[in-house]
Amino acid sequence: MTGENEKKIVKTIKVDVDKCNGCRACEVICSAFHSEPKYSGNNPARSRIRVIRDPLKDVYVPVYAGEYASAECMGRDRYVIDGKEYDECAFCRASCPSRDIFKEPDSGLPLKCDMCEGEDEPLCVKWCLSEALTYEEREEEVEEAEEQEELEIGLESLVDKYGLDKIMDTVARMSVKE
Ligand code: SF4
Ligand code: SF4
Repeated sequence: MTGENEKKIVKTIKVDVDKCNGCRACEVICSAFHSEPKYSGNNPARSRIRVIRDPLKDVYVPVYAGEYASAECMGRDRYVIDGKEYDECAFCRASCPSRDIFKEPDSGLPLKCDMCEGEDEPLCVKWCLSEALTYEEREEEVEEAEEQEELEIGLESLVDKYGLDKIMDTVARMSVKE
């Protein structure tokens, strides 16, 4: 081992709120891409990007579906834009029990942006004719501690979902196979 840190690609979509005109093309293509079979339908309720719209104020804010949260958070954000106060949680990315956004309408399962896995570029970016969305990639070194932290977060969510006993049983079974 050389002791060199590993590299990871960080993918981001920069949102220029001033350029968004609220057309919702991003919602349409996202829900179409993720429908089963692909492109068989488009229902913005299934989209992993939602545009918070306030046409009277000409305010349109695209928000991407982020992590699943099993419980409501203790702290809330309050946004005031052009003198109007928006709902707490309005611009949050989490799929959480406090609201219906970022949940699969039929099953209630959480939705999360996957950057259109398998595509060269996120489709919402391609379809945004106003250029409100810009895709960027950068390479970052991964510190060992960060990898450990990511592993712990991953394990925590598995334990949340399946319970510690089930995870331990599975690991025990896998070790026996080896
Ligand atoms: S496609 Fe672009 S301009 Fe239209 S709502 Fe989405 S982000 Fe806004
Ligand atoms: S990057 Fe893909 S998955 Fe994510 S919101 Fe845009 S269209 Fe949907």
